[in-house]
Amino acid sequence: TMAVIGFIGLGHMGGPMSANLVKAGHTVRGYDLVPAALEAAAANGVTTAASVAETVTGADAVITMLPGGKHLLDCYDDVLASASPDTLLIDSSTVDVADAREAHRRAEAAGFGSLDAPVSGGTAGAEAGTLTFMVGGSEEAFHRAEPVLEPMARKVIHCGGPGNGQVTKMCNNLILGASMIAVSEAFVLGERLGVANQALYDVVSISTGQCWSLTTNCPVPDLVETSRANHDYEPGFAAALMLKDLKLAASAAEQSGTDAAIGRLATELYQRFNDEGGGGYDFGAIIKSIRDRSGD
Ligand code: NAD
Repeated sequence: TMAVIGFIGLGHMGGPMSANLVKAGHTVRGYDLVPAALEAAAANGVTTAASVAETVTGADAVITMLPGGKHLLDCYDDVLASASPDTLLIDSSTVDVADAREAHRRAEAAGFGSLDAPVSGGTAGAEAGTLTFMVGGSEEAFHRAEPVLEPMARKVIHCGGPGNGQVTKMCNNLILGASMIAVSEAFVLGERLGVANQALYDVVSISTGQCWSLTTNCPVPDLVETSRANHDYEPGFAAALMLKDLKLAASAAEQSGTDAAIGRLATELYQRFNDEGGGGYDFGAIIKSIRDRSGD
């Protein structure tokens, strides 16, 4: 059944996500602070709104796709004040677990069902409607959200109670960041000791070192068709966003007393790469920093 959906945050991800909801036949009301984002959304059939209140009034569901937790909590003040009582709140931004749980707490106190539902799949997945949604919140809210998320998703997975979507997302990205560094170090080590990149790739891609950072987004160009290395490391998934997610993981590890040494080190190495000016490049470009520091 078709729904009225309020969509707040029409950026790199929210723009194409809201367009897919329109294509599925939903009525989508969109809001962003940036006029250009609103214009682009309007061209995709989104009805643009002039305020959060106008976006959420009478909506069956409200989806937020914002830069971070502070934006989310600020925005929820307005959402909670204006939404109808039976509106389902779905936050798909990547935010700190503590902020996600605070958003849930405020929503529940105001009488709303809410979910954290961060995504993986990047802008390509947002455009193709093939995102993976990792969802935290009640069983009941999850079942209400499934048909809303479906046009944007390849897979929608319930990961447990409030905040568990964010926990799952940062665990995935801890593995992703660490594996990209490990793959990059292995190529540089192999090169320096005389093994051809192609030979290393041919072995590891069918061996126990196989991973997404190798076989889908290989940091060495010309080995894998889908890699951003083939396009001068134009993102893709920018190193600045990798750093953001690793910091969320490192801070959650610290707060929970989890011994996550590799996560901490990966955060430091992506911080260094960002400080060197790498933040705007695909996160696989960290191999350049490893080469530089190896004297190559
Ligand atoms: P973006 O910066 O392109 O979009 C965010 C949008 O939110 C911007 O257009 C901004 O103007 C708008 N905004 C900020 N504050 C607002 C407010 N108070 N009210 C209304 N609009 C507001 O970022 P993005 O790449 O679309 O990422 C969005 C979220 O998705 C982030 O949390 C990011 O970590 C996560 N994410 C991004 C990717 C990716 O590949 N880009 C992948 C997975 C998850």
